Amino acid sequence: MRAQPAGSHFIGGKYVEDTNGTLIESHYPATQELIARVYSATEPVLEAAIAAAEEGFKVWKKTAPAERARVLRRAADIMRERNHELSVLETLDTGKPLQETLVADAASGAEALEYFAGIAATTNGEHIDLGGSYVLTKREPLGICLGIGAWNYPIQIASWKAAPALAAGNSMIFKPSEMTVLSALKLAEIFKEAGLPDGVFNVVQGDRVAAAAMVAHPKIAKVSLTGSVPTGKKVAEKAASDLKHMSLELGGKSPIIIFEDSDLDNAVGAAMNGNFYSSGQICSNGTRVFVQRSVLSDFLERLKERTLRITIGDPLNEETQLGPIISKGQFDKISQYIDLGSSEGATLEVGGKRVAIEGLENGYFVEPTVFSGVTDDMRIAREEIFGPVMSVLVFDDEDEVIARANDTEFGLAAAVFTKDFQRAYRVIDQIEAGTCWINNYNLTPVEMPFGGHKNSGIGRENGHWALDQYSQVKSIYVEMGDVEAGW
Ligand code: NAD
Repeated sequence: MRAQPAGSHFIGGKYVEDTNGTLIESHYPATQELIARVYSATEPVLEAAIAAAEEGFKVWKKTAPAERARVLRRAADIMRERNHELSVLETLDTGKPLQETLVADAASGAEALEYFAGIAATTNGEHIDLGGSYVLTKREPLGICLGIGAWNYPIQIASWKAAPALAAGNSMIFKPSEMTVLSALKLAEIFKEAGLPDGVFNVVQGDRVAAAAMVAHPKIAKVSLTGSVPTGKKVAEKAASDLKHMSLELGGKSPIIIFEDSDLDNAVGAAMNGNFYSSGQICSNGTRVFVQRSVLSDFLERLKERTLRITIGDPLNEETQLGPIISKGQFDKISQYIDLGSSEGATLEVGGKRVAIEGLENGYFVEPTVFSGVTDDMRIAREEIFGPVMSVLVFDDEDEVIARANDTEFGLAAAVFTKDFQRAYRVIDQIEAGTCWINNYNLTPVEMPFGGHKNSGIGRENGHWALDQYSQVKSIYVEMGDVEAGW
């Protein structure tokens, strides 16, 4: 097996195995070749991880923030040195083209480590003068944080959670998606090499049942999930029953609004990035593309022409722009939505079929697909597909498009394209979404808080807000006089 790790779990600074857990097999999506086998955490494994994370927390919370920063910065450097190796691993695990993983996965993880290293030592408290007596405030870490990942950006998600958690002085148990179990283990190795004390960052594998048991563990102080809305609701329910801190990064059905005065080539490029990158398996994708009527046919013509030029194929070939879908289950779901789009009356402009790639016949490759004539009530316009399927909707005026863009349970992301900056601000201001762009799409620099409104989540990753969400405030009243007691 091409990518078999030394053990299923990484606990207390070393690999740990327990074959009594449920078997989890990892397949390379382009060929369905078995590349690794790991086992879901049993109760003893979870308890060992909790014990290690408790020990790690004792040491790490007393480590000066500037020293924590040095460790995170070293980890970022190691990640960059190993970018190629990590990118190949990520491509094998997810099927995403190497052209993408080389720039968007470990590279983005390294940026998060570096950014939170940079602000680790800035979380100072206050001195509040009461005219004699005073109050001190300080930020304290929460304890053991549980990170749960989705399969589309495995090492990026692990790093986006670990970086602020560790910068704030917490320890972490990270559970990767059972579809992509590999790269978080490499992150754990990198942290160890960078000098992180044992037990501060642990990786524990788990299916849904094991994951639910982790969330319920009384010693977990915070849960940070990246996943779908239904999973988010289950996790929130469990975490709430113990009043655990939580952040939830969930799904979306985000709008891209293209006004007639837009730079149309930029708008087409952004709509393509926001629907076809990672074969469309991105939470923040702009899958509802609203185009103003007067430019609709021009937009569709340019979009089709550029979509037909996309190179689909072997993800390990750096020329490839579109790889396979992660699994048969996900492929089936996407195919059903494509059939549904046609049967609901949308017009299939381009794509829509499975592609056979020579030598990779077992991979589930789907053509980048565009539907036009989509109406707000169609299921392809309402539900998250998580595949390369773009819905184009037409609109006439500003108020109408704002109302239609907001008519969704989701609120993860949104964009507006126009050269009129007053209109751009005015529209974005009224859009119910947490992560927005004007004249671009899906850029997520680490400085930019990322997360959703409405059912797309609670809390933010990245930006200094993320550090706040991995810490809590302690206020200390300091009496400089006598205690006044009325008896
Ligand atoms: P998923 O919800 O099926 O699984 C996500 C994770 O949750 C996995 O690790 C899974 O094992 C775990 N899980 C499942 N049931 C659980 C339970 N009851 N208790 C605890 N953990 C449980 O999602 P997925 O299919 O892996 O990923 C795709 C989804 O993730 C999409 O909806 C996508 O939009 C979303 N996503 C969101 C973001 C974001 O930042 N907002 C990023 C990537 C993906």
